[in-house]
Amino acid sequence: METDVLVVGAGPTGLMLANQLVRRGVRVRIIDRHAGPARESRALGVQARTLEIYSHLGIADQAVALGKRADGAVVWAQGRRAARLPLGNIGRDISPYPYLLVLGQDDNERLLGDALRARGLAVQWNTELVGLAQDTDHVTATLRSPDGTTSKVTVPWLAGCDGARSSVRELNGIAFEGAPYQHVFFVADVQMTGSMAPDVLNVFLWRSGFHLLFPMRGTDHWRIVGILPPHLRGRDDLTFEDTIPALRQEAGAGLSFQGCNWYSTYRIHHRRAARFHDRRCFLLGDAAHIHSPVGGQGMNTGLQDAYNLAWKLALVVSGRAGTGLLQSYQDERLPVANHLLKRTDRLFSLIVSDSWLAGLVRTRVMPRIMGLALRTAAMQRVVFRTISQTGIRYRSSPLSEALAGLPEDGPRAGDRFPWLRLKFRSNGPTEDLFAQLDDTRFNLILFGQPSPSDGIPDLGDLLRIHEVPSDPANDRELARVEIPRPSFYLLRPDGHVGLAGTHLDAAAVTRYASERLQVRGAGA
Ligand SMILES: Cc1cc2nc3c(=O)[nH]c(=O)nc-3n(C[C@H](O)[C@H](O)[C@H](O)COP(=O)(O)OP(=O)(O)OC[C@H]3O[C@@H](n4cnc5c(N)ncnc54)[C@H](O)[C@@H]3O)c2cc1C
Repeated sequence: METDVLVVGAGPTGLMLANQLVRRGVRVRIIDRHAGPARESRALGVQARTLEIYSHLGIADQAVALGKRADGAVVWAQGRRAARLPLGNIGRDISPYPYLLVLGQDDNERLLGDALRARGLAVQWNTELVGLAQDTDHVTATLRSPDGTTSKVTVPWLAGCDGARSSVRELNGIAFEGAPYQHVFFVADVQMTGSMAPDVLNVFLWRSGFHLLFPMRGTDHWRIVGILPPHLRGRDDLTFEDTIPALRQEAGAGLSFQGCNWYSTYRIHHRRAARFHDRRCFLLGDAAHIHSPVGGQGMNTGLQDAYNLAWKLALVVSGRAGTGLLQSYQDERLPVANHLLKRTDRLFSLIVSDSWLAGLVRTRVMPRIMGLALRTAAMQRVVFRTISQTGIRYRSSPLSEALAGLPEDGPRAGDRFPWLRLKFRSNGPTEDLFAQLDDTRFNLILFGQPSPSDGIPDLGDLLRIHEVPSDPANDRELARVEIPRPSFYLLRPDGHVGLAGTHLDAAAVTRYASERLQVRGAGA
């Protein structure tokens, strides 16, 4: 077998997974049934956590340069300006990317595709998965070419990144539980001018619905998202022109449209796969969960699924860890999807409800709450952590273990380790901790204690040790996030805390590696 992992689907999720596997030495084949990358921009919110992951891939600077920071939002209620929300830098001290970046999915896919090609792997387009059979130690996949011919490939592992209509999910007989919403959405990429506030997200709330206007890169370039008026539903010959009267009525009579690059309508579902892992197959991204685009989480959640699975699969493929480690992918990501579905469903139902009361809440209560919510730094932090996905944690995961003695308010096992600026040498420069972390290995961070003289032999080259010396600037930074001295944090490659405690106990780390991570050779 020349391929360790067959990745089915070259959307953002599949491209991220392929990149993460290849840079960890895994032999990957990535296929897609389409002839080339999608041209529609679809998702356009890139969250801070995604940019943190991009920075390890070397594409964060390009993404930031290509996109547009959403520095703020203006909320309009029944046509009147009701609130201005500061969004720029609301995540300062939480992430090196303390904002929401507006960058279309097509640009994200291009960056991820270029990064993959630079690592020597190209997507095999025009190749569709049409059959799949699982065995104890391999999967046999049947692939179809455009001329109708089929071929079989045998691989140890297969990742279904094949979107909402996932063949991998269906061929494994995994239910996609949930339902469609009755409303139909439209999205349009347009050149337009009008009374909307420039360069910020404009949220138009009406008793009967809403419109969102996202500023895009380029002059007068906007993305409009809204709900199709009921009288237009069910028509398949719709064009953007059909939507303009309702748009003018609700978002301003003076709107003037110079062009429309893309217009699409779609019915939103909220659904989750019953399992994300079935023996040698995995489901990630839209194949595993779909929900309303409220909050701009869809694409970002798929990218994080891939980041969660990649390091585990790479350890198993290389023989460094037992297959039991892979169960934690579902243990960790399924609750994230559940939570997201519940949250987006609640918000979406309120935003689209036709009821008189919901209309009142939308136009009177929501603008006020939104305005107040971002007034204080504490609330800004809560909102940022939720939207940016930096607050996602796996505290009840089997991979999370906290030893006694750490404060409740500091980082806990399962949390994404906080972003800190630290001096790694006394009298040295202050450096970005995230830039020091090697995300292809485990990182052991030691505060107020020296590195163990023999390292942690059982983890060997899988581990990097960072010793943080005592220093007033370091102490202030640690106090800010409630990290005591002495303490140690063993970070997984994806930056989440695996094991944490006060005094480093090499035997505890070794035991953690062999029992929880199933790293081979540990605990011998
Ligand atoms: C019109 C529209 C607007 C959206 N707007 C937003 C938004 O504003 N914000 C947001 O967060 N999300 C939005 N989304 C959702 C977002 O686009 C998805 O969450 C995202 O594309 C998921 O990425 P993915 O890689 O998991 O799946 P996809 O992007 O669907 O990629 C799946 C890939 O698998 C391939 N494939 C499928 N079946 C097979 C097979 N059998 N064999 C081989 N290849 C196969 C497909 O060709 C495709 O390239 C929108 C979606 C749509 C349709």
